[in-house]
Amino acid sequence: MDQQQRGLTSTYDESRSRFLTAARDAGAVVSSYDHPERGMAAEPLAVDVATIGPDDATAVLIVVSGTHGVEGFTGSALQHHWLADLREFRPDDVKVVLIHALNPFGFSWVRRVNEDNVDLNRNFIDWSETPPANEDYGGIAHLLVPDSWDDDTQQTTTLQLLGYAEDVGFDRLQEVVSGGQYTHPSGVFYGGDGPVWSHRWLLAHLAELVGSASRVCILDLHTGLGPWGHGELISHLGRDDPGYRRGTAWWGDVRSMRDGESVSAALSGDWLAGVEQLLADVESTSIALEFGTVDVITVLQALRADAVLHSTLDPRSPAGDTVRAQVRAAFADDDPAWFDAVAARFDDVVRAALENLASR
Ligand SMILES: [Zn+2]
Repeated sequence: MDQQQRGLTSTYDESRSRFLTAARDAGAVVSSYDHPERGMAAEPLAVDVATIGPDDATAVLIVVSGTHGVEGFTGSALQHHWLADLREFRPDDVKVVLIHALNPFGFSWVRRVNEDNVDLNRNFIDWSETPPANEDYGGIAHLLVPDSWDDDTQQTTTLQLLGYAEDVGFDRLQEVVSGGQYTHPSGVFYGGDGPVWSHRWLLAHLAELVGSASRVCILDLHTGLGPWGHGELISHLGRDDPGYRRGTAWWGDVRSMRDGESVSAALSGDWLAGVEQLLADVESTSIALEFGTVDVITVLQALRADAVLHSTLDPRSPAGDTVRAQVRAAFADDDPAWFDAVAARFDDVVRAALENLASR
């Protein structure tokens, strides 16, 4: 593909090579950290980091793509867009760090989860303690990820789940399904049984990513929740927290996941919250930017199909291609109008972050 072409690519590898080319063209310092596994096409996998700006910057903006693998198609395209079109607007004293494909295995396999079927954003719990309980998940686990995915099974289990939603309310269903669970390794929104590779990578490299900065904004790019093309800023903090209030001052409308304002349910183990605890001496204004695609039921159906594919079927079978197309369509829209809307929102969010990070 044309390296300069904007928008979504078709594969992780295309996204990666376009990112690396744009980063080098922009004069960024590029570091690549190999992932121990290979991707779907046996391609090497890595977390790639591009850094632009002074080493001794007192403020840093860290933009992250692919926390949820498949969502990296959009995140990578936005990082490329920044390198190609926006980097000249960086204030001189702010360093920008682009982390490409935090979960490269999921990106390559067109999955939200990683090589362990783990949702990286449920993995940042305190592993010295018993993982948070989500007892109601067990009651619907067999409906969410049944043993087969034939038409009858899909229909029956979906109707039962909708019946469950009618009983407990849709918000409660979303909380049980997506809040995180630590008991069903082949289920959805599984948080794992210990820190996964990308988690360990972040812990090992956080200090060098932040460098000497005393103020940091981590912008974590997501897709799949909310109205089409809309970009919701989601804070992991409560509304009383100074970080939340600072975010509101920077960007206006910020939604607290914890206080029930967001399209996302409250959840356990999200990485921004986990990492922020380690940045005790740093003023952190970190946020997830979540772009809407299709409705939440369509997204859930894609995630269920993906979980069944990887737990009971052959991911390399023709059925696998169908499921991957379904997952990709749930998390990214190839309509250029969608990317235009997403990119415009991203521009505004990044501009406000850089203005507020720059020393005045
Ligand atoms: Zn996500």
